Amino acid sequence: MGSCHLLECLNRRILIDCGMFQGSRELAEENGVAFDFEPAAIDYVLLTHAHLDHCGRLPLLAKRGFRGEVIATPPTRELVRLVLVDAAHLQEEEARRHDYPGRRRDEGGGRAPLYTILDAFNCLDRFGRAAEYEQPVALAPGLRATFFDAGHILGSASIRIEVNEGDRVRSVLFSGDIGNTGRPLLRPPAPPARADLVVMESTYGDRLHRSFGASIEEFYAAVCSAVARGGNVVIPTFALERAQEILYVLHQGVERSRLPPAAQIFLDSPMAISATGIFERHSEYLDPEAARMFRQGDDPLHPANLHFAREAADSIALNRITGGAIIMAGSGMCTGGRIRHHLRHNLWRKESAVIFVGFAAAGTVARQIIDGAEHVRLFGEEIPVRSTVHTINGFSAHADQRELLAWRGGIGGCDTTFLVHSEEPAMRQLAEHLQGYRVEMPRLGEAFDL
Ligand code: ZN
Repeated sequence: MGSCHLLECLNRRILIDCGMFQGSRELAEENGVAFDFEPAAIDYVLLTHAHLDHCGRLPLLAKRGFRGEVIATPPTRELVRLVLVDAAHLQEEEARRHDYPGRRRDEGGGRAPLYTILDAFNCLDRFGRAAEYEQPVALAPGLRATFFDAGHILGSASIRIEVNEGDRVRSVLFSGDIGNTGRPLLRPPAPPARADLVVMESTYGDRLHRSFGASIEEFYAAVCSAVARGGNVVIPTFALERAQEILYVLHQGVERSRLPPAAQIFLDSPMAISATGIFERHSEYLDPEAARMFRQGDDPLHPANLHFAREAADSIALNRITGGAIIMAGSGMCTGGRIRHHLRHNLWRKESAVIFVGFAAAGTVARQIIDGAEHVRLFGEEIPVRSTVHTINGFSAHADQRELLAWRGGIGGCDTTFLVHSEEPAMRQLAEHLQGYRVEMPRLGEAFDL
């Protein structure tokens, strides 16, 4: 589901996010279709956060004529650069795989990348002012935007847009993705005091998460038993946020002697290594306890036994280690990337463990393993699944139903709630709990007069 909302107000056209559809291949093709508006007519893009489903079509927007200003928090600006360049690189690779000499694109054989690395760099020139939390940014006389910490990933924000109408102020609040409270690295979401209208995400509107503490215990136990058996631990992980959260948990595990002292941790992902650097540079945006550790020179994302594998050769060298390695690599759903090599070398060994710490979409290799497949296909080979497989659910970056309702309840003065960014059952269940408010569930492309 890609997030993209257009707000027209006082003759200005403001886009809140410009996300990419993610999921099946059909959706991937939808990303190339024309926007429902004229990109050149957009004055501002306000970004809630750096996930691809919120910023992934920005290069396309700029390529198709957008010349306005992109406004985001300082960490979001840095993370977006990383995320878009990586996405463009993957699209170029994908296009090359489908392309070969003598076959023309219009014959349906080759596929042009949605955008290139050059397009990604070009759109970065559209970034203008940086938004600090809770400090209004002027968009026009009588029109301003304020970013509030959404607690979802580093730099994430909910954005309130306020307009003066005579002597009163009207406001609309876009939630962005709302974080889960009580996680170690990020501050909890900070709902603004008031807004007339709320447009809010409802990803987990129909479920409750397991507690974070129980998940960490389960995680340590899985690592310890694999290392004791003489195996490795393979953790498929998303490069942004989840990888840093796992590093934090591993750091604590080492400090508190909850992990085997001989275990060595490998972060085998150039993108996750770069993202970790961005977290370290913007530690003032983190949870106060994590920020304090940084100030005291104790980097909570860097356990003593951590090694970075940036170069391909460093990654390949890990294949020779048969026991005691904790390897984190992408992609999180095992659809590509270095993780597939580590699965190939460990999945068939009963002494190793694979620990899933994030969402896995239907049809992915990760999903097959989680669902108990006896073997999976990797590099044209059938690899038997003999390692232990753990799925630890408490690491979600999204608020659950209880937290969504608490966030919504913290906003005063609001009579209408628009639910977006989820499957219909989740929206309906959340709507049932929002009794007493007017609730709308807009369809893709639907317009409302506010
Ligand atoms: Zn997100």
